[in-house]
Amino acid sequence: MLAASPAANNRAAATDRDWVNDALRRIDADFNRSADTHLFRLELPAFPGLTLYFKDESSHPTGSLKHRLARSLFLYGLCNGWIGSKTTIVEASSGSTAVSEAYFARLLGLPFVAVMPRTTSAEKIAQIEFYGGRCHLVEQASHVYAEAERLARDCGGHYMDQFTYSERATDWRGNNNIAEAVFEQMAHEEFPEPVWAVVGAGTGGTSATIGRYLRYHRMKTRLCVVDVENSVFHDFWHKRDPSLVHPKSSRIEGIGRPRVEASFMPDVVDRMIRVPDAASLAGMRLLSRLLGRRVGGSTGTNFVGVLTLLCELKQAGQQGSVVTLLCDSGDRYACSYYDDAWLAGQGIDIGPDLARLTGIVNDGCWQG
Ligand SMILES: *Cc1c(COP(=O)(O)O)cnc(C)c1O
Repeated sequence: MLAASPAANNRAAATDRDWVNDALRRIDADFNRSADTHLFRLELPAFPGLTLYFKDESSHPTGSLKHRLARSLFLYGLCNGWIGSKTTIVEASSGSTAVSEAYFARLLGLPFVAVMPRTTSAEKIAQIEFYGGRCHLVEQASHVYAEAERLARDCGGHYMDQFTYSERATDWRGNNNIAEAVFEQMAHEEFPEPVWAVVGAGTGGTSATIGRYLRYHRMKTRLCVVDVENSVFHDFWHKRDPSLVHPKSSRIEGIGRPRVEASFMPDVVDRMIRVPDAASLAGMRLLSRLLGRRVGGSTGTNFVGVLTLLCELKQAGQQGSVVTLLCDSGDRYACSYYDDAWLAGQGIDIGPDLARLTGIVNDGCWQG
């Protein structure tokens, strides 16, 4: 699955050290122009002594947590000598990663090609093209990897390969990674070390970074990964069979994969919770009401996991905090998850879950 090193094709470009130095400076300057994302606290009066936080990753310039990943993948490629002044950047992506990478490719003046399934939404294609990227569409979702590798080989470009490299491109010990950003912002809260950190897994990079950081800094916080329908991560975590595959694709954008991705590190995950898609989307709608802003589907999945854990903590008479991510904004899904006709077309009825989750938030106890 590992891409052939593009170093050989790229040797001429990568020796262009002045250009690489300037590219690193540009990424640094871009970072320096941005503030950190907000950490929201959501009051849940039915859970006294328990506090909940959302790290708002939707406020990055490209609208999702993939902004951090794209920056890390570019820095990794530049510092490995894989990206030079003439390198075409190629990525296999069905979602937010291509949008964020297109942004950084434009920042560096490099051509960018996103290899995506033909079913990718028109909004997403428009966003990638807005940043000057080109979209190369394939008939089947499972073909994106091989096609991206082939394209990169043919043009002497660099296949970013987020599903292999996301766990290692991020500096897990700190250096303003997602974990450090969250825990530094929690420093003045009454429970600065959460009982649980809750995240989903797409590449698995976020859970790998947080899980390693928790160990390295000897924190008591445990890591819970929420998984969705049509995804192998939950089964893989239990059975550790890397050949697991699923015939369908996840309906919750950004999380859940039909194959075990190399970047998913099961040993740093303390617990996994499987969340049905209807519950994820009900959680998304409910949380949007509570926060007064629309959140994306994977944030809804996180919220359902959080509510499960909060109920357990309350039942056990424990106090403390739980932290999770607001991965992207619901504005991206106005024509899908927030459209009742779209939900009906997918055969998803969120009614029962919405009632159940609303009951949990109001009463502070699990409803079966
Ligand atoms: C990628 C993504 C995730 C999962 O993050 P990983 O670090 O790739 O596991 C969650 N939500 C959204 C919207 C994403 O795009």
